[in-house]
Amino acid sequence: MGTYYVTKVRKQAVANKDGTSHEHIIGVVTNLGRFYTNKEVVDSIDTGHAWYTEVDKEPRAKIKKLSSCSNRSGCLHSPYLTTNPDHTTRNNLENLPRG
Ligand SMILES: [Zn+2]
Repeated sequence: MGTYYVTKVRKQAVANKDGTSHEHIIGVVTNLGRFYTNKEVVDSIDTGHAWYTEVDKEPRAKIKKLSSCSNRSGCLHSPYLTTNPDHTTRNNLENLPRG
């Protein structure tokens, strides 16, 4: 099975029902420069491939699927991606540079 390393994240601003807004992840860019949508990453994870964030001088964080964005406004954007929290936040998917 393949292993993919994500170095950048693509986000989109969306309006909340209460008039505020938030940004959520719509896809990722790998270290090879290829863009994948959330759905493509989730489908890949479901078929047994492993996805990790890759940040200089930080441990890799495993990417896992979430059923939806589920931000404070209850956004249902789906599927969604996240990383397990560890001792550092720099390798969190949400904190990667934009790409
Ligand atoms: Zn959202």
